[in-house]
Amino acid sequence: MSPCRSSRKFNLFNAVLFASLLGITVTLLPWYAVSVGISRAEWLLFFFYVAATGLSITVGYHRLFAHRSFRTGPVITFLNLFFGAAALEESALHWASLHRDHHRYVDTPQDPYNIKQGFWHAHIGWMLFWRNLPDYRNVKDLHANPLIRNQHRYYPIWVALSGIGLPLAIGAATGHLLGAFLLAVVGRITLVHHSTWSINSICHTFGKATYDIDASARDHWGVALLTNGEGYHNFHHRFCGDYRNGVRWYQWDPSKWVIALLNRLGLAGNLQRTSPQRILSARTAAEYQRVERAVRRSGREKIFLLGQIRGHYEALRTILEEWEKLERGYQRIRQTVSKESRSTVRSLKRSLAEQHRAFVNARRAWISILTRTSAFLGEA
Ligand SMILES: [Zn+2]
Ligand SMILES: [Zn+2]
Repeated sequence: MSPCRSSRKFNLFNAVLFASLLGITVTLLPWYAVSVGISRAEWLLFFFYVAATGLSITVGYHRLFAHRSFRTGPVITFLNLFFGAAALEESALHWASLHRDHHRYVDTPQDPYNIKQGFWHAHIGWMLFWRNLPDYRNVKDLHANPLIRNQHRYYPIWVALSGIGLPLAIGAATGHLLGAFLLAVVGRITLVHHSTWSINSICHTFGKATYDIDASARDHWGVALLTNGEGYHNFHHRFCGDYRNGVRWYQWDPSKWVIALLNRLGLAGNLQRTSPQRILSARTAAEYQRVERAVRRSGREKIFLLGQIRGHYEALRTILEEWEKLERGYQRIRQTVSKESRSTVRSLKRSLAEQHRAFVNARRAWISILTRTSAFLGEA
């Protein structure tokens, strides 16, 4: 049975709201910037609100509520609900319910922002012509939390206080009421709206399929810059429980850094991490599938290449599986370390280092065969 109620009703309220927000942002806001000028206090309020509401969507609505990728207490939960409401993206319960459906039914008619219905449907059309309305059966865990229930029930009040009242009050106190309205309310909501929605449109259309070549979700570093790291969407769809989206050291993922910082401060725990071996295994599998398909496409006379490629791939996979097993054993023993087991820990550590060396060599051989195969296919 479908978890969603279907409707094709045109949502006039959303249409007027989104058109007004965008209209003011591209007309009155530039006029104000040119004719009056934007002071430092107005910029500060704008950047604070962009960061607070953007992170409440990515850290709070997405990774905490929709995916439960870490645990936290009532203070951080409240802050995420407060500034999340200010982003004007519905209540956390509503958002998480639709998002869980997106992951569960991705690219099918039950996916609320199904990219198969077109780029603009995935970006904004799904909120103008509602097709799927949540019935909240998939968010019973969240419904049990009184703070989340309260934000859902009194959502307009939360929006009025956090998204409009507070920035306007700060604007009035600093003598910039109109500037606060144009920049910290209207411009900021428009920016955070379109950044969030670009995950559903751009990240399901453009970018790299690093971990799953058959998924419509893509890794897009440009969108990651705009969305506090949410642009690594191919990784996210492959490992959606992980608190990280940009998993490599050079990838821009401030949401991950905020969660790690909260963890350091003792304000978050139980951070969900996929093992490096499983991540490398998914990446290698994607590389294998990609080269295998390229070889098959290039004609029957090149099929002989597949045996060699498959051999390297299987070797790398076996090393990764062994490495993960060793790592698990090492972590288990380390936690229960006693004087007698210290030598076992040392020996396990040595085995791990050897396994890592074996992986680096096998990975080097793998990259070399991928490069040679691509060059060979390119020469044809
Ligand atoms: Zn997605
Ligand atoms: Zn997600």
